Amino acid sequence: MGAPWITFDLDGTLLKNPYWRLHLAPWLKAQAALHRENWNHWWNLMAQEGDRRWHEGDWIGAYDWSDIIAKLFGLSLSVPSKVAWPTIADLTLPGVLWMLESLRLLPIKLGVVTNGLWANQGPYLQSLGWDELFETIVTTSPEAGCKPDPKVFNAFDGPILCHVGDRIYHDVLAAHRAHTMAILYQPRIVAEDRSDPLSPATVIPDRVIFQHWDLPAVIHSLL
Ligand SMILES: [Mg+2]
Repeated sequence: MGAPWITFDLDGTLLKNPYWRLHLAPWLKAQAALHRENWNHWWNLMAQEGDRRWHEGDWIGAYDWSDIIAKLFGLSLSVPSKVAWPTIADLTLPGVLWMLESLRLLPIKLGVVTNGLWANQGPYLQSLGWDELFETIVTTSPEAGCKPDPKVFNAFDGPILCHVGDRIYHDVLAAHRAHTMAILYQPRIVAEDRSDPLSPATVIPDRVIFQHWDLPAVIHSLL
């Protein structure tokens, strides 16, 4: 049996939502201004449409912002490109780069499971060199599924030691459904995430970390 996997969520766990900050929000603000609309109002409509799709079971469509924008506003949203290292490094959460360097010294394999489309997440992973650091990257697609569907972990060959993420009803629930240990990264209390109709009322993580500096020691204790 090979080295076990540690898998990570991206947004809110390793990164500060680069797709939103560097692409979607600037695009929305510019387009809304051009159309003399309030960008916040547009975003609320988009979030409502995303929630509607989620609750109808269209988990993939709930993250397809270009499709949501085309439907709501009849506009075409571009896909992001790679950005310069300082730009993307600035959007890593505190301690993440150090943590990843520490984890590389352990006999584990690193993976990513993100609820986001490759078109929207890939350029930022490539900007960081993380498309090489992480051996397997799972982005939302009909084949791969979407958290909290445990099918997202099917792409990993061999045992998964734990999944690390910031959302109880996406990360912790998906991990538990896949019979994998769940570590919740919780720097602060966040608004509740979208829960699916089959979700239990309460989901409890196996471990909680409040800062990334603590994770290598936790992983070491699990090996
Ligand atoms: Mg997250």
